[in-house]
Amino acid sequence: MNNLNNNGSQEQKSKYLPKLISGEHVGCMGMSEPEYGSDAVGMQTKAVKVGQEYEITGNKMWITNAQYADVAYVYTRTGTGKKDLTTFIVEKGTPGFTVSKEIHKMGMRSSPTGELSFQKCRVPEANRVGKEGDSVIHMMKNLEIERITISGISLGIAQACLDQCIKYAGERKQFGKTLANYQLIQKMIAEMYAETEAMRRMLYTVCYEYDQGNRSNNLASAVKLQLPKMATKIALDAIQLHGGYGYSREFPLERMMRDNKLNEIGAGTNEVMIMIIAKNLLNEALKH
Ligand SMILES: Cc1cc2nc3c(=O)[nH]c(=O)nc-3n(C[C@H](O)[C@H](O)[C@H](O)COP(=O)(O)OP(=O)(O)OC[C@H]3O[C@@H](n4cnc5c(N)ncnc54)[C@H](O)[C@@H]3O)c2cc1C
Repeated sequence: MNNLNNNGSQEQKSKYLPKLISGEHVGCMGMSEPEYGSDAVGMQTKAVKVGQEYEITGNKMWITNAQYADVAYVYTRTGTGKKDLTTFIVEKGTPGFTVSKEIHKMGMRSSPTGELSFQKCRVPEANRVGKEGDSVIHMMKNLEIERITISGISLGIAQACLDQCIKYAGERKQFGKTLANYQLIQKMIAEMYAETEAMRRMLYTVCYEYDQGNRSNNLASAVKLQLPKMATKIALDAIQLHGGYGYSREFPLERMMRDNKLNEIGAGTNEVMIMIIAKNLLNEALKH
């Protein structure tokens, strides 16, 4: 929706956004492919112009909401250059467009994931977003927002783990005293608190900067690198603090750890965040 709002025509926005915003319709976004994940710009799904239409052929992998989407926002290759990418809006039911696979995951299990298949799928030219070849910029700008947003999920998970640990330390007794009495437990809770606050303040500061119009690819990537990683550590510590109960499904901690692990992978892995930051910093340094 953010991408369409920033880059779509007035007609496209009027047609699709109201129902997506109200929740009457569900959308999905197809960028990743079976053979092109981190190297998203290498994608091979093609759109070829045929009269007043485009014919799309290819597959999109790991697509959130694939099975339930009324409308898909699909990145395609429209030329031979590395950056010749163009986006199309494809409605459910368009001939040649199917959901070819449902993917079962270790976490985020209430968020459905599937594979999209396009076999000579014809869409009208009016469904092209922007001009041919515009979409690398659309994609990069939208990924920055997605990375910041995903990091908010990690902050929520870290806070929930901390809250649960404080509660449990006050209730669970071993050796005749509650866990809260033991310095090793206190250390875990104090560190969780310090880490969660560091996450919160980093995220909020970067969100504030974006709200002011000060975008920074490096800061968005740094947030995405730090917050999911820290939340995985906090969730593992929280499981440890709960002992066997932490490992069981009686408490939500193991689920939070599994859910958060996705945030280290989706919208660009930790390693890709490191590559982006290093490239930006070193390119800048080498200019002087
Ligand atoms: C649950 C889920 C939902 C998703 N939802 C969507 C969606 O809605 N739409 C969409 O388009 N995509 C979606 N994705 C895809 C996601 O963005 C990709 O999974 C992610 O970008 C990584 O790509 P990959 O899985 O192909 O891993 P790969 O790119 O194959 O990477 C495998 C490993 O190699 C590392 N690696 C890759 N290249 C390098 C390098 N040059 N140097 C060092 N290490 C490297 C990676 O960091 C990773 O550790 C989703 C993924 C998941 C798991």
